[in-house]
Amino acid sequence: MQLITGAVGQGAANAAHDVALVQAILLKTTRAATATCAAAPYLASYDGVYGPATLAAIQAFQADHVFVNTTTQQCVPNPNATAGQVLPNDATWTQLLARVPAAFAELRVLPGGKRVYLQATAAQLQTRIMELVAMTFAPVFRVKVRACIDQMHAQHGIAVGVCPQGDRRTFAAQYALLLQVPSVTNAGPGESNHNFGMATDIGFKDLAWLQANGTVDNNETWWLHHLNANNMAQANLFWEALRTVGTGCLVGAFRGPVHDRPHLQNWNDATVSTPARLAAHLQASGTMQWSHSGGVYRCNLGMGTSKYPVGTAAQIWNLQATVTVANIIQARAEKPMPPGSPPVTAATVTAMRQALRAQFDLADTNWQNWTAS
Ligand SMILES: [Zn+2]
Repeated sequence: MQLITGAVGQGAANAAHDVALVQAILLKTTRAATATCAAAPYLASYDGVYGPATLAAIQAFQADHVFVNTTTQQCVPNPNATAGQVLPNDATWTQLLARVPAAFAELRVLPGGKRVYLQATAAQLQTRIMELVAMTFAPVFRVKVRACIDQMHAQHGIAVGVCPQGDRRTFAAQYALLLQVPSVTNAGPGESNHNFGMATDIGFKDLAWLQANGTVDNNETWWLHHLNANNMAQANLFWEALRTVGTGCLVGAFRGPVHDRPHLQNWNDATVSTPARLAAHLQASGTMQWSHSGGVYRCNLGMGTSKYPVGTAAQIWNLQATVTVANIIQARAEKPMPPGSPPVTAATVTAMRQALRAQFDLADTNWQNWTAS
């Protein structure tokens, strides 16, 4: 069990995370039936806010298990306990830990948080690690993803893992994602940080957290949809904990845009233009000259020295590059073809579109050589 950081109860500090943890234990601990009352939890719900119901539950628990001689059932003083309060490692805390059911013996709460969750088991952590092992990342970044998983478990007892499509995405996978409805990305093939094995999305699937009435949500999604619907501020605390660990010195990754909550990557992209980097990568990987400006890629078509607009990454990937007959004629004029070369026709344009797509295929195959600068 995570230890409370301060006292909970009458006149105590009552930090929200400590109150939530003590409440959750009282909620999960059953008071034995008496002549007048059926067996029931000491507390009916938890909210991280100290009040009369919490005090009554602490007092009832103390009357049953702390200020009592368990043989004679007589009231007795207990020098290691404080009436109406639970203190770190005092007799009341020790008795709470002794009485809470084994299934709830490892409850946790984030600093400042109010949502209590079950600590992940070693097996759950191992599952997430094995998922990572089966994925494709640049070696330098794989180390950081692993460190993030390890540190989230060490610091918070949570087994985070790589979300679906959070590992290295092929250009084809990026294109499929681009077409997805509702939209999840604006990045075309080769334009996402995920296409080069140095970015990931990490999430919280199967985080088992306690609803206010103590019911455990055992089916949480990667993106914390359940907790987000329950209490967005509390869900954001989990994302913030992930980012703090992920960008901390023990992991050393960087976060993406603020709204992209699961995202971590290997570099700071505040000044990185992914289209410009793709143009450089296309040029380094293939046989043509590339640049990006005005929202489109420009390419020398492997012929002349000038670059001609050929469209977006999605258009080029989909064999719909905007290159024209006139472009190709002009490129040939720059660097004349041998006598007897066939005339430029629609078929020439089709062949050029395939040649441009082939350059993207080379860049995809050569993904490990992409650089952010
Ligand atoms: Zn991402």
